[in-house]
Amino acid sequence: MKGIIKGLITVTKHMFRKPVTVQYPEEPIPWHTKRFRGRVILNLDSCIGCTLCAQICPNHADHMVHYEYENGKNWRKIYPAVDIGVCTYCGLCQEICPTGSIRLSNEFELAHFDRDMDYLPDRLSRTETELKYHD
Ligand code: SF4
Ligand code: SF4
Repeated sequence: MKGIIKGLITVTKHMFRKPVTVQYPEEPIPWHTKRFRGRVILNLDSCIGCTLCAQICPNHADHMVHYEYENGKNWRKIYPAVDIGVCTYCGLCQEICPTGSIRLSNEFELAHFDRDMDYLPDRLSRTETELKYHD
């Protein structure tokens, strides 16, 4: 009898809890932990073109390319590009960057209609939402 009552109490408690199911993708997922590692994103205005991120990348996903963008600190005009198809989201580029220009964002919805996963500096500096509405 005691067990039945205990069970009924547990069931009653759960009846008034908010559902945890999210109707993704119609509803956005409201979670993102602080340490979540999503797509790499670049801040073009603070990158000094030091190449450290490309040097530390273990699988050469991060590579430097020439890009015509003037920020006053990057006189060689070289910026990182990242092949997202090869990137393992290890975060080493973010750790080594002296200016905090490259970091792992919380973006994970990377489905595209083309197979080009090499994000050149211009593409790398924009969020997926910006890319969807501007390309
Ligand atoms: S997260 Fe790792 S694999 Fe991806 S670009 Fe940065 S260093 Fe390379
Ligand atoms: S993103 Fe950071 S580490 Fe990479 S070239 Fe620019 S300043 Fe250097």
